[in-house]
Amino acid sequence: MKCKTVHNNLIFFLEKELPVLEMKQVQEHLDTCPDCALFAEEMKKTLSILETEKATENNPFLYTRIKAKLENQEEAERIQVARPILIRVLQPVAFSVLLLLGIYGGIKMGNVGSPVQETSVLSDDEMIPFWNGMDSEPIESFLLK
Ligand SMILES: [Zn+2]
Repeated sequence: MKCKTVHNNLIFFLEKELPVLEMKQVQEHLDTCPDCALFAEEMKKTLSILETEKATENNPFLYTRIKAKLENQEEAERIQVARPILIRVLQPVAFSVLLLLGIYGGIKMGNVGSPVQETSVLSDDEMIPFWNGMDSEPIESFLLK
């Protein structure tokens, strides 16, 4: 086997993806050719670095991703199970909350309404002397005259 053929097949050799015969031929060449053996060693290191990078970077990510997915699934199932209960519980609660909010809002609106009335009363108070003056003065002046 030529060095070039070995180099071309080396990655497959290292990944053990060559046919048995070629695996044997590459191995035999590496045993007899120091250059190719060195090249193979370098490639092996590179591959192992890539493997460890895969292992340290991808796998935890993949693990957490799978874990998150599983947890989401569990949660989704839990929600699906809990939903009818939640609806049954929450609907009357929501209804009474809305009712309370409506009552509260009504009271608040009444409270808001009374200051408005108070201001109108105040303005009436302010207006009363004017009206009194308007009413009484002509009458008084009419009566006095
Ligand atoms: Zn060689």
